[in-house]
Formats: sequence, structure tokens, C-alpha cells
Amino acid sequence: MSYTVFDWQKSAWELSRAALARGAHALLFAGARGCGKRELALALAAAYLCDAPQPDGRACNQCESCRWLAAGSHPDFALVEPAAEDDDAEPKTRPAPKRSNAITVDQVRGLSDLMSITAHRDAGKAIVVHPAEALNVAASNALLKSLEEPPPRTVFLLVSHRPALLLPTVRSRCQLVPVRIDDPAPARAWLAANAECDDPELVLALAGGAPLAAVSIAEDPVWSRRAGFLRALAAPDADPVRIADLYRDLPPAQVLSWLQTWTFDLVQIRFCGRARYHRDMEPIAAGVAQLLEPIEATRLHRSLLALQRHVNHPLNARLFVEHMLIAYRQALAHNAIPV
Ligand SMILES: [Zn+2]
Repeated sequence: MSYTVFDWQKSAWELSRAALARGAHALLFAGARGCGKRELALALAAAYLCDAPQPDGRACNQCESCRWLAAGSHPDFALVEPAAEDDDAEPKTRPAPKRSNAITVDQVRGLSDLMSITAHRDAGKAIVVHPAEALNVAASNALLKSLEEPPPRTVFLLVSHRPALLLPTVRSRCQLVPVRIDDPAPARAWLAANAECDDPELVLALAGGAPLAAVSIAEDPVWSRRAGFLRALAAPDADPVRIADLYRDLPPAQVLSWLQTWTFDLVQIRFCGRARYHRDMEPIAAGVAQLLEPIEATRLHRSLLALQRHVNHPLNARLFVEHMLIAYRQALAHNAIPV
């Protein structure tokens, strides 16, 4: 097993290494879901524990420590994640039993053995928490004690998609390491090499620029049906009942996700002249955007948000999808499109 530092993470990698070299004991990797923060934190932990790091600071992948890590049995390392962590945007190293979405206080307390005993090896100890916003209040407070009085040569690497959700006291004890993709070129190149898709740039745009999330989209068989769905939505005579029938085999959450990004882009085009998610459909979307009044767009956005709460457990999936498509159609109909 090798630990990856992606090409778009070079500045975050150097920043985090420099922080550890200065003696920081807690880092917070923050960035969009699917930009590879978890991999970066694991790579840093591996490098911190490695007996013979490479000249660029990465783990050697050969020493005893690296072999233990690869086997999942390193005595001075812990990865703390929710039992039900299902972040398919960021590859996992273990199967995820469907249990809690939270990191519980018992999981944090379970670290006490690791923290109280002397490190088995000279390098120290490393603990990765992912995603840190999954720590519930009790777990956050338990972790806070360790962050305030860190055991010797122990580093805490917290990973967060939404750092604003962390307890401020936890956040303030960590050095922030932003993981951004300032230059999309390395992300595009990586995606082209790692996913089978005809248009990596488009898939990257759909994923909000996050390459690992883009792989999930490209590998989803549903992806091939997206264009047809959007064309049906854009048709002047779009019939919500017929579209719901055509796509009745899709999960309502998928249809809602397409509808939300489509609506977002209609407004985006109207005000900024450019689509964010539908670069491939921009001319078609621009035509529809002219038919959607801003006040109707706001209403539609709110009604789709309200549906989001029930999307995973609708009483009747077919009616649920029809309902959201009718809301979309009505928003357009307000501008005198014949329905
Ligand atoms: Zn090594």
C-alpha cells in the first residue's frame, strides 16, 4: 500500500510537514468533500511514523512501520471514523458496517490506551480523525482534553469537509491546513488517468472541482442517463409525469440532485452568464434560464430543499419524483409556458 499525496496538494503537504517540524501536535485539514484530504492526512501520518522517509518527506512504504500501517496493525496509529462512514468520494481502507454516522465518545475514549502507553517505536504516535465534524458533543469534549494536554510526540490529524461545524474550542487548538485546488490542471490530469470518462473536465465541474468525487460520478452507471434526463427537462413540452415514468428506476435522491444542480445553473446563467455544473448543456440551459423568473427560481429552490429532508425515505418514490418535477414545471409555467 502506498500513501498518496496528490499533485494538487503540494502546498498543503508542505504546510503540514512544516507545522509538524515546528512541533505542532494538532492539524486540521479542511477542504471540499472529495479533494483527497483523508489520503493526505494518512500520508502525513505514515510519513511521521516512517523509519526512513524519502527525500521529499513521504513515507518509504518499505520499513517496519510502513508495513505495519499497510497491514492495519500499527500499534502507534489510530484512524477514528464513524462506523457508518460512507464517504464514497474518498476511498476507504476498510469495509464500512452500517451503524452510527457519528464518532462516539466511546471511540475517543478507546484511544486512551494508545495515548497512555509509551510509543512502541521511536517515531511517536499519530491519530487521524475523519471527518472531524462527525464527533458528537461528548466525543468532541473527550478529544479536547487530549488536544489541550497532548501526550508526548503524539500528533492529531483532523480531517473536515465542514470545519465550521466543529466545536470552536477544538478548532482553535488545531493548526488549519487548507486543502484547495487552486490549479485545476493536475486534478484534470489525474482524473483522466484514473477514471473512464469521455469528458473529464465536465465531470470535474459536476463534482465542484473535487477529483475524487468526480471519479465516483464517472463510475456511476447512472451517469450515462444524465444528459437524456436534462434534455427531457429542457424540452418545451416537458411532461413531469412522463419524465417520472421514464426515470422511475432511479433513486429519488439522484433525480433531486440533478434537478437541484440544474436549477442552480439556470439561476447562475441568468445572473452570471455561465453554468457551473452543466458546461456541456450551457446553450440549452441558457434558453430555459430565460423562462425562469428569479422569484420563481427562489420558490423552486426552497421547495426542492424541503424535499431534501424526505428524499431518502419517501412514502411513495414515484409520486415523490412526480411532485418535484411538477414543482419545476410550475416554476417555468409562471412565465407563460403552456403546460
Ligand atoms: Zn517507512
